[in-house]
Amino acid sequence: MDKTFDQCVIGAGIIGLAIAYSLTRAGQAVLVIDGEGMAEGASGGNAGAIAFADVEPLASISTLLKSPRWLADPLGPLSLPLSHASRMLPWMVRFARACLPDAHAASTKAQAALLMLAKAETEVFFDQAGLAHHLRREGALYLYAGRRAFDAAAGLWRLRAAHGVAFEPVTGPRLAELQSGLGSAYTHAMYVPDWLMVSDPYDITKALGDRAVAEGATFRKARATRLVPQEAGVTIALEDGTSVAARQAIVAAGAWSAALTRQLGDAIPLEGERGYNTTLPPGAFDLRRQLVLAADGYVITPLASGIRVGGAAEFAGLTRAADFRRSAAMLRKSRRVLPGLATEGGRAWMGIRPSLPDTLPVIGRAPASSRVLYAFGHGHLGLTQSVATAQIVRALTLGRQPPIDIHPYRADRF
Ligand SMILES: Cc1cc2nc3c(=O)[nH]c(=O)nc-3n(C[C@H](O)[C@H](O)[C@H](O)COP(=O)(O)OP(=O)(O)OC[C@H]3O[C@@H](n4cnc5c(N)ncnc54)[C@H](O)[C@@H]3O)c2cc1C
Repeated sequence: MDKTFDQCVIGAGIIGLAIAYSLTRAGQAVLVIDGEGMAEGASGGNAGAIAFADVEPLASISTLLKSPRWLADPLGPLSLPLSHASRMLPWMVRFARACLPDAHAASTKAQAALLMLAKAETEVFFDQAGLAHHLRREGALYLYAGRRAFDAAAGLWRLRAAHGVAFEPVTGPRLAELQSGLGSAYTHAMYVPDWLMVSDPYDITKALGDRAVAEGATFRKARATRLVPQEAGVTIALEDGTSVAARQAIVAAGAWSAALTRQLGDAIPLEGERGYNTTLPPGAFDLRRQLVLAADGYVITPLASGIRVGGAAEFAGLTRAADFRRSAAMLRKSRRVLPGLATEGGRAWMGIRPSLPDTLPVIGRAPASSRVLYAFGHGHLGLTQSVATAQIVRALTLGRQPPIDIHPYRADRF
């Protein structure tokens, strides 16, 4: 393959493929490479929510306050194995700094801007790609175990209201109408109608990649090992000893992106934040919409492939073996939420979120070279922010003004 492409997108997750589709539609000759295949990373097995309401960054005082309780439970929502803790220290210090009031207000504003762009563009994008049938509009239910837990979340809902998020407090018959069969502890909920779901994250990501190829993009299963920028373009060295050339390279390699940016001289504090889930057979429960158990850090989701139960955050790097006791623990807890849930016959999965300490992604030109663009670090919201990210990258590539101010997402902010 000695053709020179306009764009080489490294990583075929939802971020890389949304960019690849968008640039192909803009008339660019696009090559997408991925060492594993399309949708094989975090994008293939996540919870499938396009969560426009999630304006509050994870780096917040409320997360800090919950952390000791979460960490105390060995199979709880947050885990940091001792062997990884010292390596994580600089990241944790940055996370703590991002929780301070001014920093938190700035990242809330930047996260909300990305989500508002996502809200404006996502349906149009998937519609144009012929993939609107993968979107579902049942909204989500944030569940609370009692009035006190519901009241304790009031500040978060005020913040969301201030950013234009619509929601409805529900209890009693209205709650039962939105979801029957809830456990008796779950008496209060917040219903968020403007919350898109995808039928299945693997299906929509793979279908988007196939659409990009149908529009003219080239896909190659290959792992990039090094980027060598030159004056007129960039050479991408591959693991098999060959290389490809493009006018511009876009690093969208999710949690693995830092290995490539480091070689260019950009040290970005990207951590792998591992999440777990179990997908039960479709008949496991008559689930009407996504249930969010915010206090316990997991969700229960109806997908075309079944009922998916999972979430949690384990900071254990990129290579450690998965600990599926975590997915089993969330499945056990979900029996309290849905006592009738049939928990047999599930398939466990672990995926690695690309997480930055201030909860914002990196989107923009690499400080080290104008021939390289970065688009990674979307943490818990990669599916949600994929279309917005693609719109920004498209504008930068075509020399246009990005649709929102991208200063907060710059690579050299750390
Ligand atoms: C349990 C869980 C639930 C989640 N739920 C949601 C949700 O409901 N909504 C939401 O918006 N987000 C959710 N997320 C987050 C979301 O999945 C991620 O933010 C998103 O998938 C990141 O997309 P990506 O394309 O950057 O990374 P990935 O999908 O991980 O893709 C990166 C790709 O790059 C490839 N790659 C890496 N290095 C190289 C290299 N050197 N050369 C070539 N290829 C390379 C990998 O093989 C991989 O395919 C969830 C995550 C988890 C773990």
